Amino acid sequence: MKKRTIYAWGVAILSFVILMIVTPAIPQSQEYHDFADQREFLGIPNMLNVVSNFPFLVIGLIGLVLCYHGNYFRLSLQGELWGWTCFFIGVAAVAFGSSYYHLKPNDSRLVWDRLPMTIAFTSIVAIFIIERIDEQKGTVSIIPLLLAGIVSILYWRFFDDLRPYALVQFVPCIAIPIMAILLPPMYTHSTYWLWAAGFYILAKVEEAADKPIYKWTYHVVSGHTLKHLCAAMVPVFLTLMLAKRSVEMERRSLLHTWRISWTKVKENGTKVEESYTCTYANVPVEESA
Ligand SMILES: [Zn+2]
Repeated sequence: MKKRTIYAWGVAILSFVILMIVTPAIPQSQEYHDFADQREFLGIPNMLNVVSNFPFLVIGLIGLVLCYHGNYFRLSLQGELWGWTCFFIGVAAVAFGSSYYHLKPNDSRLVWDRLPMTIAFTSIVAIFIIERIDEQKGTVSIIPLLLAGIVSILYWRFFDDLRPYALVQFVPCIAIPIMAILLPPMYTHSTYWLWAAGFYILAKVEEAADKPIYKWTYHVVSGHTLKHLCAAMVPVFLTLMLAKRSVEMERRSLLHTWRISWTKVKENGTKVEESYTCTYANVPVEESA
């Protein structure tokens, strides 16, 4: 391992230890299980929160089939195929885990709601590292990232402390959009990542507004049901991206593309593009030490 990598890991581990020492434990609130819409239809308790997980199964299976059927997504790297396979398995498994939880919401069932979601989430981080930083590093990171997610859930269950789980959720939420904007992509259609992130944020807002939304819609639909539907749009957008994208010939970060468009607007369409071409030919992660 290079010196800089060891240094970065040292800083990360030290920050984590300090964070765990200085912050108080976050226990799982039991109010979390008290959802706005608890109506039973056709003998199914919490029916809408249960059945709104069905889209995850559909999109997860479609993604898996397209990953392996005639290489529809044109995935050239082995690590990418593994990463996306884990992602779509996680997405399909959300349908089972989340339905199981919502049939009878409690802590022990919540594990099965969070586990597949975390698998999908951590796979995305590995895919991002493969696409934007380094193929080998990303591929090697798949298993440790999945393990980090699983361990954070086990830690919560054994010690009733959500801090590591919150960290596993929070760090990618910051890191992925930053990487999506700053680092040049391997492929076209990068803006789909931002659409997916947008739906994810919307899902989080709906989750937080479970009861108000249920009230505003005159008890038609609750925030949590809408959260499931919006969160399912994340894999939908990523599947569309996989289907549409091709290898990016001229690797430019989104930020760079925006700057060019902005300059064009300012210069009122005059020729300014030449001065910007081929600046980002390589991903800037070469380690010098
Ligand atoms: Zn749910």
